[in-house]
Amino acid sequence: MRSLDNAVEVDALTRVFDVSDPWLNRMIERKPRRTLRAVQEVTFTVPKGRTLALVGESGCGKSTVARLVTGLYPPTEGAITFAPGRDGRPMMAQMIFQDPHASLNPRWKVGDIIAEPIREFRLRSGEAATAARVSELLTTVGLSPDDARRFPHEFSGGQRQRISIARALASEPEFLVCDEPTSALDVSVQAQILNLMRRLQDQLGLTYLFISHDLSVVRHMADRIAVMYLGRIVEEAATEDLFADPQHPYTRLLLDTIPDLRAPKRDRAPSGGEPPSPLNPPPGCAFHTRCPQAVARCKLERPALTPRADGGRVACLLAQ
Ligand code: SF4
Repeated sequence: MRSLDNAVEVDALTRVFDVSDPWLNRMIERKPRRTLRAVQEVTFTVPKGRTLALVGESGCGKSTVARLVTGLYPPTEGAITFAPGRDGRPMMAQMIFQDPHASLNPRWKVGDIIAEPIREFRLRSGEAATAARVSELLTTVGLSPDDARRFPHEFSGGQRQRISIARALASEPEFLVCDEPTSALDVSVQAQILNLMRRLQDQLGLTYLFISHDLSVVRHMADRIAVMYLGRIVEEAATEDLFADPQHPYTRLLLDTIPDLRAPKRDRAPSGGEPPSPLNPPPGCAFHTRCPQAVARCKLERPALTPRADGGRVACLLAQ
């Protein structure tokens, strides 16, 4: 049942892509159709004013979930329900992308980039009020109102991400989907952007769905973390519970890749080999080809998500 305390409820979300070769090639080469089940039966909620992080390696489906939640892709199955926003209409999700360089129009001045949603949604009447709002947004994200007259290429990577955040805030959203918002930035700048996002969340009561491949990045951002592997959530818990007691072997593998301050140069790639292709996922538990605890049963049976004692969920036959 829907809870009014949740900004968004995602129920059994599935997205299948047709990745077949063109029809003529398939006819000539007698190839079958091929489908990619990028997201499978993903269910989660994000309470208002809180942050849920979706974490996993490249290809796990987390960015597809982000695009489903923002409406860029329609779901194949399942439902996404937004709570009413402050204006009584269902909340709209705005997205902050990984690469601010690619997401900002290089031919537009920053002021026009930020003003576009304000004009589009008629959030201010008149150009003077729109310009004042742009100045206010630039100040909010730690830039100067004078920066409105400059072009994106005149800024550093961190400053460009601040512009992206100002643009996302321009449409006055209550829910933001942040797709690896700091992974293209230097480590020192990453911390500044994460601090800015936390401050904005407190000031504006924002709700975040935060996508990352890196558990260390989400540790200080997220209230809860859901770990995804080959299109499915395999573990989900409150952040402190997940770090204190990771129950899924894949979560433990991701935690092992967090850099140790005493040995910062160690290889951070997850061990256990590369993830299998999502086009041809292994039968049974999809993680069995990399799992150090795998037993014979794991090749045959796909574990369901079952409750952890602390209110989280985990999908591992041995955790049950
Ligand atoms: Fe590992 Fe088996 Fe658990 Fe999958 S079900 S995570 S293979 S122990």
